[in-house]
Amino acid sequence: MPAADEAPVRYAVADGVATVTMNRPRVGNAQHPLMTYALDDAFTRAAADDAVRVIVLRGAGRHFSAGHDIGTPERDAGGPFERRTLWWDGDARPGAEAPFVREQEQYLGLCRRWHEIPKPTIAMVQGGCIAGGLMLAWICDLIVAADDAFFQDPVLRMGVPGVEYFAHAQELNLRLAREFLYLGERIGAERALQIGMVNRVVPAAQLEAETYAIARRLVQQPKLALALAKQVFNRIEELQGLRASIDMAFGYHHLAHAHNQLVHGDGIGGQDPRAMAAANRGDEPGC
Ligand code: ZN
Repeated sequence: MPAADEAPVRYAVADGVATVTMNRPRVGNAQHPLMTYALDDAFTRAAADDAVRVIVLRGAGRHFSAGHDIGTPERDAGGPFERRTLWWDGDARPGAEAPFVREQEQYLGLCRRWHEIPKPTIAMVQGGCIAGGLMLAWICDLIVAADDAFFQDPVLRMGVPGVEYFAHAQELNLRLAREFLYLGERIGAERALQIGMVNRVVPAAQLEAETYAIARRLVQQPKLALALAKQVFNRIEELQGLRASIDMAFGYHHLAHAHNQLVHGDGIGGQDPRAMAAANRGDEPGC
C-alpha cells in the first residue's frame, strides 16, 4: 500500500463534513483505477458514517482533475479490484467487450453510484476540470468554483463523442453543449456561472472557506429531508432524460472506441497526453 501522503485519495471527517481529496497533484489528479476505486471506498465510508452529513470532493494541487489517466506509467496499476457493479471482469475478453465492460464498471457505473449517495455532495473546483474531471463535478449536488477554474471536454479530438457520463445536454443549454463538445474549448468559471453550470465563483484564495461555509450550513439541515430532496432532484433529472441520454451516448462512445481500435490500433485515435496538451495549448496530462 502507498504511504498516506502518496495514497491516490485522502479522506478526513471534521464537524459533520467528509473531505474526499484526489491526491495525484503531479499529474493533475488524473484518474487511474487505483484512484477510482479509492474514491468509491471513500464515498462508501462517508455514506455509511452517521457522523457525516455532507461530502466535499476536491483535488490536491493546482487542478481539480485532468480527467482519466491516459498516459502515466501507473495508468493500469493495481487490481484486480473488487467490482462495484454487476458487470463481470471483461479485461481479458476480445474485441469491443473488454473496453465496454470496463467502462460500464469503472466510469459509468461508479459515477452513477456516486450520483446516488443519499447525502449532499459539493465539488470544490480549482484549475482544470477536464473530461473525466467533468464527470466527477457533474455528479455532485453543488459546484463551487475558484475564479481560476475552467471546464473542458476535448475528447472529440480523440475520435470519441464526449466523455462516458454524457450529461452535457443537462448541464448546458443544448446550443452551448454543442459548441462545448464540437470545439472542445475551455469554459471559464465566470462563464460557467452565467450559464448555470456552477453554483458560485469565488476568489481562489477563498475557495476553501466559501465551500466549507456552505457545507457547514448543510450540516445544520435535517439529514433525511436533505436525502429526500436529493432523491427528488435525481429522479427529475431522469425524467428529463439524463439516464436515457447517457445510455444512448455510451453506445456511440463505444462504437467510437471500437472504430478507433480498428482504424488506428488504439481506442483514442492515436492521441496521448502530450498531443492533447499541445492541442489544448495547456499542460493537462490526461483527458
Ligand atoms: Zn471511453
